[in-house]
Amino acid sequence: METCLFCQIAKRERPGKIVYEDEQSVAFEDIHPKAPVHILIVPRQHIATLVDANEADDRLLGHLLLVANRIARQVGIADRGFRVVINCNSEGGQAVYHLHLHLLGGRPLTWHPA
Ligand code: AMP
Ligand code: ZN
Repeated sequence: METCLFCQIAKRERPGKIVYEDEQSVAFEDIHPKAPVHILIVPRQHIATLVDANEADDRLLGHLLLVANRIARQVGIADRGFRVVINCNSEGGQAVYHLHLHLLGGRPLTWHPA
């Protein structure tokens, strides 16, 4: 996994604007932000996609959502509202194959896919 971009950012082997980290996860600013707040939350453990996660990862997956909750509060968008997105595999628009949550906010998010 030495060549995985997000593993490298998590290990600080590659630059990233890290805004939060704990034992299980790291969060950093997206390099091409689509909103005033655009933060990526990744597990330290390399999991390529959401479908590569399994029952053993259930606590970790819950933890990542709580990290999104915490950061949304920290940056002041919790009450206004925000969105958490996981793109999975090619038709889901995934470009980086290390599981990540996009935390988007700071402007009205108009695109409603569902
Ligand atoms: P996805 O399409 O869900 O795989 O999202 C990948 C995201 O990673 C995109 O929003 C990119 O802008 C972002 N990204 C790519 N390279 C970097 C990087 N070096 N640092 C921070 N974000 C990045
Ligand atoms: Zn990785």
